[in-house]
Amino acid sequence: MAKTVYIAGLGLIGASMALGIKRDHPDYKILGYNRSQASRDIALKEGMIDRATDDFASFAPLADIIILSLPIKQTIAFINELANLDLKEGVIISDAGSTKSAIVDAAEQYLAGKSVRFVGAHPMAGSHKTGAASADVNLFENAYYIFTPSSLTGQDTIEEMRDLLSGLHARFIEIDAKEHDRVTSQISHFPHILASSLMEQTAVYAQEHEMARRFAAGGFRDMTRIAESEPGMWSSILLSNRETILERIEDFKERLDEVGKAISKGDEEQIWNFFNQAREQRQAMEIHKRGGVDSSYDLYVDVPDEEDVILRILELLRGTSLVNIHINEENREDIHGILQISFKNAQDLERAEHLITENTDYTVVIK
Ligand code: NAD
Repeated sequence: MAKTVYIAGLGLIGASMALGIKRDHPDYKILGYNRSQASRDIALKEGMIDRATDDFASFAPLADIIILSLPIKQTIAFINELANLDLKEGVIISDAGSTKSAIVDAAEQYLAGKSVRFVGAHPMAGSHKTGAASADVNLFENAYYIFTPSSLTGQDTIEEMRDLLSGLHARFIEIDAKEHDRVTSQISHFPHILASSLMEQTAVYAQEHEMARRFAAGGFRDMTRIAESEPGMWSSILLSNRETILERIEDFKERLDEVGKAISKGDEEQIWNFFNQAREQRQAMEIHKRGGVDSSYDLYVDVPDEEDVILRILELLRGTSLVNIHINEENREDIHGILQISFKNAQDLERAEHLITENTDYTVVIK
């Protein structure tokens, strides 16, 4: 039976979800709420949604499923508002917030005793872009889409959500909200604090040491990339996961102190072990294996140092889900060739391998 889905917040996440839902359920009606007219207009014009409003309460009673894709504070405010509206019996309410405990706690407080179901969710994909104009039907492909069930989730709710969201091609997984917040504090929230601190430290240092700006290269770029993230979103993430993040900060201070002590003692063995352990731990981590959260499907092309080689390869790969292209600056023995091309899925990786080997005599290696 065709359903009516209401997406509140037609930003990057909400609008990309609308596209993903339409892909597998073209007959579903998607209603959209957005505060600003610009994203409402884009979403309507591009056929992401069927109807739009700037009055959140007006569409809520029409929906079988409501997805709140807004900043955390606003998500909580709308859950509170939903509690006082006359919604369809058994409606599913879900969200997209990057932290879960505060939202799930609010839902349990405001929605208890109502004939609604609630399941917290966090689609673990995104980018620095915002707004419906950046929507991408492939945004969630192979990404983890986390559900955090609670007492309000009810039977079959996650099953229904997975069916609704099948067109996202995400990897659905369930985890407790508090554990979600602990894990993401370590691998996402705290790294953002580190990246921004390192950036600030460098900027201040560069006022006295101007060359710092010029010499900053690959390693520094990798370490600080996420310092360009949207400040509003990250402020609300930190404030909705305070205790856990403060614990990570204290733990890290101790680790830095340890390294500092080893350096001041001149303890070469301890310093070597420190680096070696981190290297081994990183090599063993999911991000190194195909299938990790941010992992992609990579191929390496052994290309000659000639003009237009890269352009020629890109021309061959037109239409594949190419997500990244990297020219390895140094030729390492564990990586053959210098051109590393990443794809979103295994089919495109295979297709690319086929296209390059058929049309060129370059060696292609998949690792
Ligand atoms: P976005 O900036 O692209 O969109 C945010 C949306 O919220 C817009 O529609 C905006 O109009 C609306 N909005 C903001 N403040 C509002 C207010 N006070 N009242 C009403 N509407 C308001 O952001 P996004 O990336 O789509 O993020 C949406 C949610 O998804 C957030 O909770 C974010 O934490 C979460 N999320 C983001 C990412 C990411 O990397 N972008 C990844 C996973 C989850």
